[in-house]
Amino acid sequence: MAYVLVIMVGSQFFFLENTTHKALTIITFILSLGFGVLLVRSGRREELAIIKIENLAEELKQANIQLKYLDRQKDELLGIVAHQLAKPITAIKWALESFQDGDLGELSAQQKEETTTMHSQAVNLADLVSMILDVSRVQLGKITLAPQPLDLNALFKEMFDVIEPTIQQKKLMFIKTMPQSLPTALLDKRYTRMTIENLLTNAVKYTPEGGNVTLNVAIEKGVMHCSVTDTGCGIPKEEQGKIFGKMYRASNVRNTAEGNGFGLYVAKGAIEGQGGTMWFTSEVGKGSTFYFDLPLKEAPKA
Ligand code: ADP
Repeated sequence: MAYVLVIMVGSQFFFLENTTHKALTIITFILSLGFGVLLVRSGRREELAIIKIENLAEELKQANIQLKYLDRQKDELLGIVAHQLAKPITAIKWALESFQDGDLGELSAQQKEETTTMHSQAVNLADLVSMILDVSRVQLGKITLAPQPLDLNALFKEMFDVIEPTIQQKKLMFIKTMPQSLPTALLDKRYTRMTIENLLTNAVKYTPEGGNVTLNVAIEKGVMHCSVTDTGCGIPKEEQGKIFGKMYRASNVRNTAEGNGFGLYVAKGAIEGQGGTMWFTSEVGKGSTFYFDLPLKEAPKA
C-alpha cells in the first residue's frame, strides 16, 4: 500500500507544468515517501512481533507437553513407591498384631502400651500409603473398581460406628435423613465407603464444637442421592474451583486442621469412575454441602 501511494504521488510530477503545483507535488511526494518508509518499517516490526509471539507460543506448548510428561512420570513414580511401601507396612502391622495377641509370649503392661502406639502409627502410615496409591491411580486414569453386592444398610452402619465417637466428642448434632432400608447394589466397597467417610469426616473436622452435621440419603429411579451438610468454616469463594484438585487445601484450614488434600480428589474420581457426579456449595462462616449422585446397579439375587 505504501509503495502504491508513493508511485501515485510521484507519477503526478511528470504531468504538471505549473511550478507551484510541482513544488507542492514534490513536498507531497517527500511526505508520502517518509510515510511509506514508516509504514513499511512498522509493517516489518509487526511481522517480526507476530513471528516472535508464534515462537513463544510454540515454546510454551512444548514446555506444557514436557510438564505434563514430567507430572505423569512423577505420578507413576509415586505409585511405584507407594506400592513398594505397602507390603512392608502390612508386614509390620501383622507382626505388631501378633505381639498384641501374645503369640510370642505375654507382654508386660508397658510393652502392650508401646505396641498399641506403634500399631496405630503403622495403621496411619498404611492409610496414607494407600491414599497416595489411589491418588496416583486416579491421576493416571488407572483406578480399578471391583463392583460387588454391597449392603448399603451395613455400609452406613459401619461408617456411623467409626464416626459417631468423634461427633460426640465435638458435641455436634448428627442429623440423618435416609430411607429405613437401603438396597444391596453392585458397587466397589472400598471406594464407596472411602467417599462417604471422607465427606462425613471432613464435615466433622471442619465444623467447630456445637455445630450440626446432616446426612441426607435418598434413592430415586435407581440413583442414590447423597449429601453431607455442615455448619462449619466453609470454603472461600475464590478457592472453590481448586477444591477437587490434587492435594489442594483451602487457606482457611491449612493452619487449623490436619489433612493432606487427597481425600476429595480420590472421592470424586471414585464416584465418576462408577458413573456418578460430585459437587458442592459452600459459604465461608456458614458451612458447606457436598453432594453426589451415584447410579445403583441392582445386585443379582443369590
Ligand atoms: P483434607 O481434608 O485432608 O485436607 P480433602 O481432600 O478431604 O483433604 O479436602 C480438601 C480441602 O477441601 C480441605 O483441605 C478443605 O480446605 C476443603 N474442605 C473439604 N470439606 C470441607 C468442609 N466440609 N468444610 C470446609 N472445607 C472443606
